[in-house]
Amino acid sequence: ISIEGLRKVFKLNNNDITAVDDLTLTIPEGEIFGVIGYSGAGKSTFVRLLNRLEEPSSGRIVIDNQEITALNSKQLRLARQGIGMIFQHFNLLWSRTVEANIAFPLEIAGVPKEERARRVQELIDLVGLSGREKAYPSQLSGGQKQRVGIARALANNPKVLLCDEATSALDPETTNAILNLLVDINQKLGLTIILITHEMHVIRKICNQVAVMEQGRIVEQGNVLDVFTHP
Ligand code: ADP
Ligand code: ADP
Repeated sequence: ISIEGLRKVFKLNNNDITAVDDLTLTIPEGEIFGVIGYSGAGKSTFVRLLNRLEEPSSGRIVIDNQEITALNSKQLRLARQGIGMIFQHFNLLWSRTVEANIAFPLEIAGVPKEERARRVQELIDLVGLSGREKAYPSQLSGGQKQRVGIARALANNPKVLLCDEATSALDPETTNAILNLLVDINQKLGLTIILITHEMHVIRKICNQVAVMEQGRIVEQGNVLDVFTHP
């Protein structure tokens, strides 16, 4: 993932907010890359720019040799199948069962029914939700809900998984279980994970590299041990 001169300015009535300010960054394939910073630092805007849930004001994003910032809307829809995302509040479809939630991106991608069912079962096994296929999100614990979110994000075999405060709504024990699952997925599938959080222990537990964000900029970056042990 290569990011050059990325900026996002929100135009408000009387003042502009620069949420991401001239950000340049390269993230190697297969990395678990952390982005840490206080609330309002621009982390969420940054990850949402990567799949263009937010439109950049300027700058260039290349993921897996594809220039994301140059795609038209049809191309972008396809490219997004290669970029999964999970959220703090899970963003599940509450009127659909676990299996229907996970099947949803496959339906959109036009995957035939039988293959869909096979793929959904594979994903349910991968995230450890066997037996809960017919449950509704309201019947699940927080950790189980995030497992559904992860399975859904992985449905179309993405190269990249974006995690936006994915454990911030979970208790410490559940957080650890979800982080372990992310490591497991990183190792099994070899996909690149970008994880944003305001919690240092989350970064310490699973990331190799970290960038520290402040007021839309990266103020420090490097190996987790180096960044966190410097005064
Ligand atoms: P973080 O994820 O680090 O908490 P955000 O990316 O959510 O930071 O926000 C960065 C800044 O951009 C904040 O000042 C926030 O209020 C502002 N911001 C985020 N989204 C919008 C938006 N849709 N419209 C206007 N300002 C926004
Ligand atoms: P979090 O702190 O969990 O990242 P935020 O408060 O930053 O949550 O953002 C929640 C939602 O509100 C996001 O969709 C974000 O884009 C939007 N948002 C954040 N700040 C503003 C703002 N100042 N004006 C308009 N929308 C905003």
